[in-house]
Amino acid sequence: MYQHFIADATTAGHDKRIQRVISDVKKRVTERIDSKGDRKLCTARAPWQNLSTRFADYKKNSDCIFVGDFRNVLYMNEARTTVTLEPLVDVGMATNWLLPKGYMLATTLEIEEATIGGLACAVGMTTASHKYGLLQETVEEYQIVLGDGTFIRARKDNEHSDMWHAFPWSHGSLGLLVGLTLKIIPVTKYVRVNYTPVVGQGPSNYSKVIREVSLKKEDQVADFVEATVFSRDACVVMEASFVQDEEVMRSKINNVGWWFKKWFYTHVQDILDNGEPCIEYIPTYQYIFRHNRGIFWTLRDQLPEKYGNNVFFRYLLGWLNPPKVTFLKMPATPEIRKEMMIKRVYQDIVLPLHTLEEAITLASDLFEIWPILVYPSRIYDHGSKVQGQFRRPRQEDLVPGTNYAMYYDLGVYGIPKQVMEGGEVELQFKPVTSMRKMEHFTRLNKGAPFLYANTFMDRNEFNAMFDMSLYERVRLEYGANYHFHHLFNKTAGCQSFDFQDMLREENSEVEGTKKDK
Ligand SMILES: Cc1cc2nc3c(=O)[nH]c(=O)nc-3n(C[C@H](O)[C@H](O)[C@H](O)COP(=O)(O)OP(=O)(O)OC[C@H]3O[C@@H](n4cnc5c(N)ncnc54)[C@H](O)[C@@H]3O)c2cc1C
Repeated sequence: MYQHFIADATTAGHDKRIQRVISDVKKRVTERIDSKGDRKLCTARAPWQNLSTRFADYKKNSDCIFVGDFRNVLYMNEARTTVTLEPLVDVGMATNWLLPKGYMLATTLEIEEATIGGLACAVGMTTASHKYGLLQETVEEYQIVLGDGTFIRARKDNEHSDMWHAFPWSHGSLGLLVGLTLKIIPVTKYVRVNYTPVVGQGPSNYSKVIREVSLKKEDQVADFVEATVFSRDACVVMEASFVQDEEVMRSKINNVGWWFKKWFYTHVQDILDNGEPCIEYIPTYQYIFRHNRGIFWTLRDQLPEKYGNNVFFRYLLGWLNPPKVTFLKMPATPEIRKEMMIKRVYQDIVLPLHTLEEAITLASDLFEIWPILVYPSRIYDHGSKVQGQFRRPRQEDLVPGTNYAMYYDLGVYGIPKQVMEGGEVELQFKPVTSMRKMEHFTRLNKGAPFLYANTFMDRNEFNAMFDMSLYERVRLEYGANYHFHHLFNKTAGCQSFDFQDMLREENSEVEGTKKDK
């Protein structure tokens, strides 16, 4: 087994690994026919190894195929500005490999540990997505092993283009991903970040600014756009762009990635408190992974800010952060898992930009967790036949003269205020009820939640949220319905617990207190 981890990064080594997967899958098909079993297929990556905050149980009853040695960057094609790599390469590794050559992936998540295959099978939305769209738009080719062991290369313009369109948001429910080719972009050594604090007049004020910076003309828009929303009334909007070395003002360089530096969002909070717009120059790698050490602001729920972000801790032990997600998830007992589900919120929701004020107000009413992450993203209209699971934007939302609409990610991570404060039953946090309200709002506005987190939809609600027409067609066409779990079964309804029971419990608690009064 150990030999698999000393993988051969040549094309021949890659082909050998694919052959092994094909042979494992075919062997399983034969055994399955012999035993008449109905176990489904999935990768052998244990749930505690991934970044998902949804604890999945389906692997216990599935046939798991080892893909753990698909960890190599294979080659770059400078003429086509693409890189070909294996799915378990994480974004930290890909960026480390590409930056010295003057490139990065067009869309790169801010968490080093996220794998490119995982992002490709899920969403892949980042603070450069207002320029490039979701990661799927930057994929030239997916290399996939189907459930019967057939190997295909799905491209937008070949005979497998249906698969190319349906593969994102499919969470590995259509085939096993064994390689992919993605767009890369040229970069410089530094980015200049413009921080603009916006305070007063509630979400309508800063939402207007976020919309303006997201929708600037192509030659004026920043390379990265992001806003950290600290309250209903205060936000810092950040626009960052690559600059040439000679433009860098040395006195304004901030190495945000150094181990003793503050967690990035607390640095942004300082800028808000100061109240003045300012600029900084940040080395590109450190900028891309600015949220890495604090895992946005989720680390504070394991390691409170007053310790982890304390100056002494940072100088002495700051290099320990962020802890591997594996170490945080592996020891989780069923009790801890339940606690995480009912007392914490991890949500990334994609919504059209015009809903920004309403969504922030609703999220703050339901969860009262600050900060909230907001960044814009293009969502492309691929047409009714091949749109894929994320629904087509409304025609009136399309940016004039284009085939995309501007959406945004609303990232809510942490412990709701009601949980922190406890109190009477009526005031206590109702996770399922609250999340379902957010889902209802998302559905009405033609958005969608990321499926790495817990969702609380029944099958009809799921089908209303996502456009399943192409997906179901592709499942039939490629035999995935026979070999792989359905996306709904794989991701929805927090598998370890019946959310309908929890919903009944939440409702009866409220009814009970009403009667008592
Ligand atoms: C605090 C926080 C913030 C986040 N913010 C964002 C964000 O802004 N944008 C964003 O896009 N994501 C975001 N995520 C989501 C996160 O990055 C995803 O979970 C993403 O899927 C990558 O994680 P992973 O590499 O562990 O993938 P995994 O969870 O391992 O994979 C994702 C899915 O793909 C399937 N899969 C993976 N590899 C293969 C394969 N080789 N073959 C077949 N199926 C496969 C898995 O079974 C799983 O269903 C955030 C997560 C957290 C915790």
